[in-house]
Amino acid sequence: MEPMSTCKLFGAIRALIGIKNTIPVIHGPRGCAYHIRYLLSARSGSRIRICSTELSQEDIVFGAENKLKETIITVDRTYKPELIPILTSCSTSIIGEDIQKVARELKDEINADIITISAGGFESDQSGGYEEVLETLIKDITIPNRANGKTKKPSINLIGVFRGGPDLLKLKKTLKNMGILINCVLTSGSNLEDIKNIPLAHLNYSFCDISGIIPCKILEEEFGIPYVYYPFPMGFSNSLNFFKTLIDHFNLNYPLHEEYDKLKPSIDYFRQKLDGYKAAIIAGPTRAIALASFVRELGMTPVLISIDLIGEYTLKELKWAIGDAKPKVLIEPELGEIENFIKKEQPHIILGGLGESYFSYNLKIPVLDVMHGKELTWGFQGALSISQKILNLIRE
Ligand code: SF4
Repeated sequence: MEPMSTCKLFGAIRALIGIKNTIPVIHGPRGCAYHIRYLLSARSGSRIRICSTELSQEDIVFGAENKLKETIITVDRTYKPELIPILTSCSTSIIGEDIQKVARELKDEINADIITISAGGFESDQSGGYEEVLETLIKDITIPNRANGKTKKPSINLIGVFRGGPDLLKLKKTLKNMGILINCVLTSGSNLEDIKNIPLAHLNYSFCDISGIIPCKILEEEFGIPYVYYPFPMGFSNSLNFFKTLIDHFNLNYPLHEEYDKLKPSIDYFRQKLDGYKAAIIAGPTRAIALASFVRELGMTPVLISIDLIGEYTLKELKWAIGDAKPKVLIEPELGEIENFIKKEQPHIILGGLGESYFSYNLKIPVLDVMHGKELTWGFQGALSISQKILNLIRE
């Protein structure tokens, strides 16, 4: 009744807007475009462009392929994007609008590349949207014979990254210092050329348990690129193990442990200050697992781990992350279940996103938004920053 996950169209749009010079066109009523843009802008703090055919009741009854054509041509001429993904919404999926035919007919008439995604909200939750976009990009945009141009320099693709900002910027710099090149981020901040070049990488790293694994398997099958999916670089130990996995894979010589050793006094300081405090974690699977082990590393007790959707490896990794702690684990819960538990357990802090901020007003429990696109959360610096923010919020 009160779901904590959203629709396929949301996932598809979220994955697409990360690609540079890309403007998605939603074939549907205006609400789908407005609500998704509103939410994604609030979460990322960025200007997001999503266009809509703004269908009326008459359009839904009689079909509106001409309106779709006109909108695509206008978007192409006005904004000159490199890629126009066309997406159905609930209504146009139900009436069976043939968006692929429209794409074929316009192919030579517009400058942008076109891809099509069937994204009716009822077709799946957001994970289906993420996954279909990644698979479509690999199938329609990636150029297979570029696999022959691999250089010796270690390079990786990050698969299932939909947030850019300071995290991605810092990660690129850190990996570069280690001698590892990020070949393509699927999708955040990449352009079409990066996506065409996907086969050039030596390794794929999945950053999303629910959308990254299948594309990694496809890339392994098609181009022989191996993949890893764990750990996610959030927290001190997780970041250490993330970098160590890559350094070991490429057999690089990098003083990682010296860097980590310098952090030990800070880790001890935070452990001393945060020991025994209770944390509730409300997140997607990849972050929830990383945060569970991170709060334990800080001496805190995870009392609740709420995960909106789970992937193939989620439960196995979660077991490891929880260790001997005994949090309440809610998988694909309803909002009321989370609220009831939080009211009963009264954690000292909630680690979540924008959607959880009302807890701090209603229940006076501080909420740290660990998903905002403008905050640094990954790597050693991200771990220091989150630890300090937790401490500040608990002290308030
Ligand atoms: S559920 Fe359907 S109507 Fe609602 S936003 Fe998603 S696609 Fe649009």
